[in-house]
Amino acid sequence: MSEVLAPPPRPLQRAVSALIQWFDSDHTPGGADRMRQEPDRVDWVRCIPFIVLHAGCLGVIWTGASATAVWTAVGLYFLRMFAVTGIYHRYFSHKTYSTSRAGQFLLALWGGTTVQRGALWWAYHHRHHHRHSDDPEDAHSPHVHGFWWSHIGWITSRRNFPTDYSTIRDLAKYPELVWLNRFDTVVPALFALSLFGAGAALETWAPGLGADRWQMLVWGFFISTTALFHGTSCINSMAHLMGRRRFKTSDDSRNSFILAIICLGEGWHNNHHRYQSSTRNGFYWWEIDPTYYGLKVLSWTGFIWGLKPVPRSIMEEAARADHEASISAAQRASAVHPELSPLAKVMPAAAAIAVATAAQADLPKKADGPALHQNVPGQVENPPPSA
Ligand SMILES: [Zn+2]
Ligand SMILES: [Zn+2]
Repeated sequence: MSEVLAPPPRPLQRAVSALIQWFDSDHTPGGADRMRQEPDRVDWVRCIPFIVLHAGCLGVIWTGASATAVWTAVGLYFLRMFAVTGIYHRYFSHKTYSTSRAGQFLLALWGGTTVQRGALWWAYHHRHHHRHSDDPEDAHSPHVHGFWWSHIGWITSRRNFPTDYSTIRDLAKYPELVWLNRFDTVVPALFALSLFGAGAALETWAPGLGADRWQMLVWGFFISTTALFHGTSCINSMAHLMGRRRFKTSDDSRNSFILAIICLGEGWHNNHHRYQSSTRNGFYWWEIDPTYYGLKVLSWTGFIWGLKPVPRSIMEEAARADHEASISAAQRASAVHPELSPLAKVMPAAAAIAVATAAQADLPKKADGPALHQNVPGQVENPPPSA
């Protein structure tokens, strides 16, 4: 029996509910299912905080910069990129390692500072991406929806706002995680306030550093978080467009060294699409995976444990794929276009004849520079006109 859905809301209703959703992400009048079945459309009211996040970067015009503020932004970018990749992705989305319930809550708090909504919303969308990679159901496939929609557009669409708790029951059974997911502005607001407070403390206790409260807010929160958003989004957009495909997966995921640097190891996206359950995305030592190194260090403290390795069968498959790729690369390098093949047979012989002939010929040696224009002995510079 098909479910009867409520009619779509009027524009005013939609705007009011979008305002409420700023503070309560689970506010879905008419039901989350109905929202998910709406066509893709940008909800501008709901996206105002996201627009403010970007506009806040312009605050640098008034605050200026200091080394302290800039290094804070850089440090927080990588600390929180680790939270996106090591926590939201490799823990909540794929459960590639274990921790205690309290540890899980602390990880969710750390993840909340990334301003990429709650861990459960993130994990729901990411698992959905793996089930539907690059097919029409994939919310952020660049091949289906285009580059900009996959990079930024999809998170502005009403149908992608609600969390489908029915698909993440293993996480939704923890009320503390559901609370953080529902009120997903609480941690980012506290994080921004902390930076503002830290800036005020620096003004008082270390004025020589030249940082102040507004500068720390602009650099530490607005600029760092905006960069973090776009760095993360590169995996949705670029990692299905740019790089090499080791495994012939059913999607178009790719491995990219550049994206691995920007996203602390997530650039080995084709590896990850082939085998999602391992803690590491870089399968070899030269596939740099700082997230995995960080998780390994955390495991030594006992805070997390049970990191999952890449199975031998997958490594053997990788070795076979690399071997076949090197053979076809060699064949491509030696391959000649059919139309040019007779020429290719003739050219080496012609070149050999030319070299042999030149060696035997009594050709003048190449003179240095201007000597070419000097008179050759025995020749008359201006011969008299012949009669
Ligand atoms: Zn992907
Ligand atoms: Zn994944």
